[in-house]
Amino acid sequence: MPAPIYAKMAVVGCGLIGSSVIRAARAAGVVGEIVVAEASEAARARIVELGYADAVTGDAAQAVAGADLVVFAVPVMSVGDAAQAAAVGLKPGATVTDVGSVKGAVADALNAACPDSVFVVPGHPIAGTEQSGPDAGFAELFQNRWTILTPDPRTDAPYRDAVDRLAAFWSALGARVEEMDARHHDLVLAITSHLPHLIAYNIVGTAADLEGVAEAEVMKYSAGGFRDFTRIAASDPTMWRDVFLTNKDAVLEVLGRFTEDLQALSRAIRWGEGDKLFELFSRTREIRRGIVAMGQESAEPNFGRDRDKH
Ligand code: NAP
Repeated sequence: MPAPIYAKMAVVGCGLIGSSVIRAARAAGVVGEIVVAEASEAARARIVELGYADAVTGDAAQAVAGADLVVFAVPVMSVGDAAQAAAVGLKPGATVTDVGSVKGAVADALNAACPDSVFVVPGHPIAGTEQSGPDAGFAELFQNRWTILTPDPRTDAPYRDAVDRLAAFWSALGARVEEMDARHHDLVLAITSHLPHLIAYNIVGTAADLEGVAEAEVMKYSAGGFRDFTRIAASDPTMWRDVFLTNKDAVLEVLGRFTEDLQALSRAIRWGEGDKLFELFSRTREIRRGIVAMGQESAEPNFGRDRDKH
């Protein structure tokens, strides 16, 4: 085993992503001590039972005391409160990061809550499932998936060292790491993740409300494409409410574009413009092939779970 990258890691919020970070870090041997701060009493009891942390507490300031790496793995709109609760315990020189699906709002919240003596480096692993809670995590979740870091533009050596060390940590967990501007991240993820989830929530809601089609029929014949949407639409309501409210501008921008394109498709169907439909479906097929070629397709070895949520 290599020497740990961080002697002590604190994870605040230990659901699917927090517990996956812990399991992956343990498996890779890149952290020494691991302490969890978790708001839910039931989750705390379960984490003790599962035994993957050295200590579990409800007190974030206590958990982060002496930690070299602090990972906030709570829903996006809870990051600010969690960081404020933890701030008094943060060790000068610690790296503070998160795993939130939106980066602009989270970076603002972390920077507002944390003292200048720590290095704030927001992050987002592009991997997940529709499961939640401390049982849902697994060590392989980040293998061959991207983790995007959205550091400040500052170039001083201590800060850049903190960014490089965090990138090494994620690499050790199996992830490929890239740096990106936070606002650009939010625009990219609005189209690749947030809009697809909105469409899934909407189509499943529409099917449930459709007069003349029984709910039993929707379930029975779901293999015709609908089933994949229902998996996505089973994602955690708190997490996704927070994503849409904190990435409002980018989501509304791509939703506007999407709505225009949908109108064009509707027109092509109405007027029997088969060539337009054929041309689009051929282009999209190529995009799918490109995703498969890049190894980012869920039918790749996925350890029995779908890891394509973010
Ligand atoms: P999760 O399974 O619901 O876990 C979040 C945990 O944090 C819950 O146990 C929650 O407790 C706890 N919590 C909430 N507020 C807290 C606080 N102030 N202090 C301590 N603990 C707190 O959620 P998740 O799926 O791991 O998502 C966590 C983060 O990862 C989110 O920001 C999300 O955007 C991001 N992310 C998710 C995915 C995905 O596919 N799920 C992928 C990539 C990134 P309660 O249940 O009592 O509230």
